[in-house]
Amino acid sequence: MEMIDLRSDTVTRPTPAMREAMAGAEVGDDVFRDDPTVQQLEEIGAAMLGKEAALFVASGTQSNLVALLTHCGRGDEYIVGQQAHTYLYEGGGGAALGGIQPQPLNLEPDGTLDLGLVAGLIKPDDIHFARTRLLCLENTTLGRVLPLEYLAKARRFADTHGLRLHLDGARIFNAAVAAECGVAEIAAPFDTISVCLSKGLGAPVGSFLAGSVDFIKEARRWRKVVGGGMRQSGILAAAGIHALENHIDRLEEDHANARALAAGLNTIEGMGTDPGIPQSNMVFARFSGDAAAVAARLAAEGILVLPGNPMRLVTHLDVSADDIAQVIAAFSRIVPDLSRFRS
Ligand SMILES: *Cc1c(COP(=O)(O)O)cnc(C)c1O
Repeated sequence: MEMIDLRSDTVTRPTPAMREAMAGAEVGDDVFRDDPTVQQLEEIGAAMLGKEAALFVASGTQSNLVALLTHCGRGDEYIVGQQAHTYLYEGGGGAALGGIQPQPLNLEPDGTLDLGLVAGLIKPDDIHFARTRLLCLENTTLGRVLPLEYLAKARRFADTHGLRLHLDGARIFNAAVAAECGVAEIAAPFDTISVCLSKGLGAPVGSFLAGSVDFIKEARRWRKVVGGGMRQSGILAAAGIHALENHIDRLEEDHANARALAAGLNTIEGMGTDPGIPQSNMVFARFSGDAAAVAARLAAEGILVLPGNPMRLVTHLDVSADDIAQVIAAFSRIVPDLSRFRS
């Protein structure tokens, strides 16, 4: 059975055209800077984001880690959302490998960090404290798109307080398509941006980090240190180039599918989705009933989800509008049925 997989947008498989681009890629040893395809990806990525340079890396986690290691030294601190990927889902890499202290705080419901609260967390220049160096934002964050005015405010805030500004833009292209603006507009206020090629863009592996020439030179050193110096990686970069050239505009289909999914789920008794979203490719569904039981019943109908309530459902390249109709129909059978037997 062909499964409909809503667990994440990381599950996409390379299309035949992408595989063809990979097979035909010209390659060399990228640690010697001999791989023309990697260099091409780095040039295209930097140009799209309006930055001087970019660095192809193995994953989004490696990209954010290399950014932290480059921005911050031992005993430095970065301020980050408590629910942000960089803080919560990257194994504490900055602390484990860089001696970098995170200062987390809760995200606001719209995915921003309250800059007034951030100001109160910046440490004074005093030997008792870590040195606050960096502010990290995420866009999209939990499927939400950060407003451009907020990003401009964050830049002024960072300048006022002498902080650097990093964006975990794993889904920055979803944000740009949803906000109907250029990706460079979102990137402009940031010193550095990490972008995932292996999420909704559909590449099998890879991310890139963008910033100034000097920053990327130093980041290249840290990428090597963390074991990310790859050799004939043009074969992977070719997939990334193909994704950037062919899979950006179609992200709107994923967003439309997410909106249709939310609308359908909201008609089901005992179910509702978080208000004000989906803004991009994620639906957060709440329901009466046991999440594991719902997930098991969905799996029996060929639909893969991660159990949770709210349950995050992610649309992507390998989910069609027909699939969405099937998913709504399955939830409409399963959720009322399971909630009926609750005491
Ligand atoms: C997936 C993701 C990452 C990390 O990417 P990996 O390639 O899985 O390491 C970082 N930030 C956000 C917001 C993500 O969704």
